[in-house]
Amino acid sequence: MSTISAPQEQRVVDQVPKQLYIGGEWRDGAKGTLSVEDPATGEPLCEVADAATDDAKAALDAAVEAGPEWAKHPPRERGEILRRAFEAIIEREDELALLMTLEMGKPIKESKAEVAYGAEFLRWFSEQAVRIEGRYGVAPNGQGRLLTMKQPVGPCLLITPWNFPLAMGTRKIGPAIAAGCTMVVKPAQQTPLSMLALAKILEEAGLPGGVLNLITASSAGETTAPLIKDRRLRKLSFTGSTEVGHKLMEQASENLLRLSMELGGNAPFIVFEDADVDAAVQGALIAKMRNIGEACTAANRFHVADGVADQFAEELAEKMGSMKVGRGTEDGIEVGPLIDDNQRTKVSDLVEDAVGRGARALVGGHARDGAGYFYDPTVLADVPEGAHLLRDEIFGPVAPVMGFTDEDEAVAVANDTEYGLVAYLYTSDLKRALRVVERLETGMVGLNQGMVSNAAAPFGGIKHSGFGREGGPEGIEEYLETKYVAVNL
Ligand code: NAP
Repeated sequence: MSTISAPQEQRVVDQVPKQLYIGGEWRDGAKGTLSVEDPATGEPLCEVADAATDDAKAALDAAVEAGPEWAKHPPRERGEILRRAFEAIIEREDELALLMTLEMGKPIKESKAEVAYGAEFLRWFSEQAVRIEGRYGVAPNGQGRLLTMKQPVGPCLLITPWNFPLAMGTRKIGPAIAAGCTMVVKPAQQTPLSMLALAKILEEAGLPGGVLNLITASSAGETTAPLIKDRRLRKLSFTGSTEVGHKLMEQASENLLRLSMELGGNAPFIVFEDADVDAAVQGALIAKMRNIGEACTAANRFHVADGVADQFAEELAEKMGSMKVGRGTEDGIEVGPLIDDNQRTKVSDLVEDAVGRGARALVGGHARDGAGYFYDPTVLADVPEGAHLLRDEIFGPVAPVMGFTDEDEAVAVANDTEYGLVAYLYTSDLKRALRVVERLETGMVGLNQGMVSNAAAPFGGIKHSGFGREGGPEGIEEYLETKYVAVNL
């Protein structure tokens, strides 16, 4: 049962502009339109503009033209535009959350959480816009003076994924606007509506035309490759898969672009024997099931001390097995559909591979029949080394649990991955916590908590999870260059 009616759904979809936003104007795409579907039903929601390479070039032209004026725009005013947009998002939380659920599938409650999280980047960077500072120092020999200043990088290309349709955008757009950069934004083709709604909100908040240009496209590579090669572009910030990140880095090397790469993850979730197991299970539910498991920060493997592994796996299976699966617009739903059939097939194949090698499904283990791309929450015990889901990013509601004997083994298995985004660690021993945190090869650690995301903190990874940080005081640095002036007194 849903308290949201079909006409209400239609209204929020109808309200969103469906065109490209270039140079402050909404216009059609040269390739016609592309379809956006509801992953809970497989039915189309609407059509949005499909950009061709000429549209992308026009978007970069507009960003380049607006660049010099925007770089000079008073930081306070840049911040106030962001602040107004933050407030508008909060005011429209319900409709934006519904829109997100319709295009991406996550339950309304989670969409609301993302709307709040996404808006927070605009508030945070509205405050950072007026804190861009330089340095003045005496040279060591006492003769000259060393002056440094921060300046906007210049026109940026921002490419975002479908899993957090709003927040992955605001995490880049907020600091770029605050720093005085202009930009071309390309959201994922499966979830363009949240970003289109955001562009409209920023326009209404007073963002001058040309500062943010938005292109939606059915052919990402074809549309963005010429921009990446264009000498006027100065930076590429990408959030998405490691595979595509590699390709983009190769392309960007020709133009020596500044890069930020927020890529895939394979987060270990470690529970020591001294941990509060109930709290660890609660944390595991968040780390695994937030966003239907489709988060780069999702716990991908659970390494639990032998003495408590069975208890942990059984409690987790009980909780995950009782979660309500269904269309995210319906009341009480906790697990929505996966984004598409490919993603669901990938999850199914990974589970089949693990079970084929001897893993036991304590709960779940199956795709759901019928419309939409649903997969049952699944807990696997006794997962053998070699199972593919220990190496690959699962991106679905599947929790493999394995035992370990001691601290050294826990650290070794946690680090045994090419990825390095986040790790979760549960222990009540502070000395052990700090010892293990220092040895973990990740950009972030959740210590006795199952979620790390916070606009005020530097989000990002190491190894094949990428580089650069989004959020926190570090986030704006990605959009600033340092200029040093040697001063002869
Ligand atoms: P994806 O396939 O890499 O796509 C991400 C974005 O890149 C989309 O906008 C996509 O456009 C575009 N794209 C794809 N191929 C391209 C190309 N050749 N040239 C230029 N752009 C291209 O990733 P996804 O499946 O959307 O997202 C899931 C991945 O993102 C996971 O690996 C997840 O871990 C990662 N992620 C990382 C973070 C982080 O902060 N580290 C956060 C969220 C997600 P189309 O939509 O048209 O394909």
